[in-house]
Amino acid sequence: MKKEFLYQGKAKRIFQTEEEDEVLVEFKDDATAFDGRKKGFIENKGYFNCSISSLLFKHLEEKGVNTHFLEQVGPNSMLARKLDIIPLEVVMRNIVAGSLKRRLGQPEGFPLSQPVLELYYKNDEFGDPMINDYHIRVMEWATGEELDRMKELAFRINFELTARFRILGIDLVDLKLEFGRFKGNILLADEISPDTCRFWKQDTGERLDKDRFRQDLGDVSQAYENILKLLKGESN
Ligand code: UDP
Repeated sequence: MKKEFLYQGKAKRIFQTEEEDEVLVEFKDDATAFDGRKKGFIENKGYFNCSISSLLFKHLEEKGVNTHFLEQVGPNSMLARKLDIIPLEVVMRNIVAGSLKRRLGQPEGFPLSQPVLELYYKNDEFGDPMINDYHIRVMEWATGEELDRMKELAFRINFELTARFRILGIDLVDLKLEFGRFKGNILLADEISPDTCRFWKQDTGERLDKDRFRQDLGDVSQAYENILKLLKGESN
């Protein structure tokens, strides 16, 4: 199915398939944090993140959100539509954590009265700086219309995933989304996983996401596995 290696990021490798507008996305076990300054390896992360992303993309498709996802074709690989990626990270927040805690001086765990959307320019060299609509339009990273569409989708995705995780006893604290263009539409791209979301267990507050790696909390791989098991309905 793989034809030609296209490129790789920190967590995934992308291959062209025989279909012109389809790619194979291979998820790696490599882990990085703090703009790549911390490097490591999380056992079976590729399998967990590919499977979690596949289940969540399927869920969103069922809720009417169009994504790049086509099919999980191996433990750590999925077929996806080949998009023209927009170089933005759209972050949605429901509870204060991470950089918002540092920026606003609010305590970690403070519930936001409504979801907060933030925009970042996806560029490692510049440390993914926070930007706003004006930067995006003036740099022509997206049109005003595309930006409006991405914002509308980001709120819908956050709403659907918050509801999905709430019934599993998990708070979706925040998440990062990426989008791309495909045949005139904007589709959700990249992945939705413990690498790109913060998941807190409602009863114990236990972190089931990449913060375990960032903060050396231990049991990193087990946390990712836990999220997958919950989504598959297999968990304790
Ligand atoms: N995030 C991500 N990629 C990035 C930056 C952030 O997936 O390059 C995710 C992160 O895992 C969290 C959310 O976006 O779920 C918000 O991250 P934050 O701005 O708090 O930054 P952090 O504290 O993770 O550096």
